[in-house]
Amino acid sequence: MELGIQVHNNCQYVSCDVAIIGGGISGLSLSVDLKKRGYNVVVIEKGNYPRHKVCGEYISMESYNYLKMLCPALNNLHLPLIKNFKLSSTGKKEFSTELGLGGIGISRYLLEDLLFKEAQKLGVIFSLNNKANEINYHEGDEIYSIKTGNEVISAQLVCNSSGRKSNLETAGKIKNLKGTNYVGVKYHVKLNSQQDQIEIHNFPGGYCGISSIEDGKSCLCYIVNSKKLKQAGNSIEQMEKTFLFENKNLKRIFTTAEFIFREPVTISGINFEIKKPVDQHSFFLGDSAGSIAPITGNGMSQGFRSAFVLAENIDRYLSKAITKNLLNTSYDQFWNKEFATRIKLSRHLQKLSEYPFLTRMTIGLFNSFPSLANRVIGQTHGKPF
Ligand SMILES: Cc1cc2nc3c(=O)[nH]c(=O)nc-3n(C[C@H](O)[C@H](O)[C@H](O)COP(=O)(O)OP(=O)(O)OC[C@H]3O[C@@H](n4cnc5c(N)ncnc54)[C@H](O)[C@@H]3O)c2cc1C
Repeated sequence: MELGIQVHNNCQYVSCDVAIIGGGISGLSLSVDLKKRGYNVVVIEKGNYPRHKVCGEYISMESYNYLKMLCPALNNLHLPLIKNFKLSSTGKKEFSTELGLGGIGISRYLLEDLLFKEAQKLGVIFSLNNKANEINYHEGDEIYSIKTGNEVISAQLVCNSSGRKSNLETAGKIKNLKGTNYVGVKYHVKLNSQQDQIEIHNFPGGYCGISSIEDGKSCLCYIVNSKKLKQAGNSIEQMEKTFLFENKNLKRIFTTAEFIFREPVTISGINFEIKKPVDQHSFFLGDSAGSIAPITGNGMSQGFRSAFVLAENIDRYLSKAITKNLLNTSYDQFWNKEFATRIKLSRHLQKLSEYPFLTRMTIGLFNSFPSLANRVIGQTHGKPF
């Protein structure tokens, strides 16, 4: 479809091949991939760049080649390579091992900005500070239209990468959300620490990760059962002193690190639910298809991997190599095979990881059977693509 932009009565009408709702790492990756394949792409993003987001900012090596292909600017950065892992809880014992595949550290602030600039350079059209409010599928013409505040965007396909919590969720989906709610908190700090190591420190109610990112900084990010925040009178500082400081490593980190921003970036209402990769004629990717608990998986790699496979399938459909039905089933099958079981399992493991005595038992088990630890860690990292 030719890219078309017209304005009538203060409303902009845009037509394109693929409209992507949500320009986080999943939507941005898909936009770059599709644009490189020669399609006209519009990204609707309710925010703007650059910006901080709650995330541990550790990217599994499985995605690194794909990321560098999408965004060659990454090749010029000297990002920390993370090869070692350390786990602790409220007791004295700790567990350390090599990571196998490992990962890199980069802030979401920098990564999204690099992907955004690459997409813009290639000619992806952005509708920023604009929220998609409604998606309609016109069966006869096989065309979608998306309404934002001041635009109507028509597209041959719509991909939804609007993240974990979206105004576009159907009422039924929201009602079906079950399970515990979690709060996420992130800081950037400077700290004397081992650059090539990611550490996970468990405390009552959750766990905190620390690992290196660009420019000698570290990302300090934790996830905690929202009940703990309530118990601390809704004060993050009080919650940290009461619960996180029960782990001696966290107490040391929080009391000796130099905080680059004192006020943390926070999110609430985190929930690990599986949704559907294809629903109401739209294709879902990244967290909007289902989010995995950070303790058991790499959410960002799930986003990159789904962008990679979806772009390939969309290319086959738009170049008329496959039918729409085949596009639907092949993406649906890929997604369910790769991620559905892992997300369901992650919800249970997330729940268990709130209890220090279970983490202490795990540490004991890993110290006795290191090969078991390597197998568990292997499950959280996929294969390079
Ligand atoms: C505490 C915590 C730590 C984590 N640590 C890691 C880690 O270390 N490594 C890792 O790999 N993963 C980690 N994850 C998971 C990772 O952060 C997510 O998987 C990832 O952010 C998903 O990216 P996304 O692009 O799918 O969604 P998002 O980043 O949520 O992007 C969605 C975008 O859609 C936009 N949007 C929403 N609705 C609309 C709308 N209606 N119209 C227009 N725009 C809209 C939003 O503004 C947003 O920019 C962590 C998660 C948590 C909670």
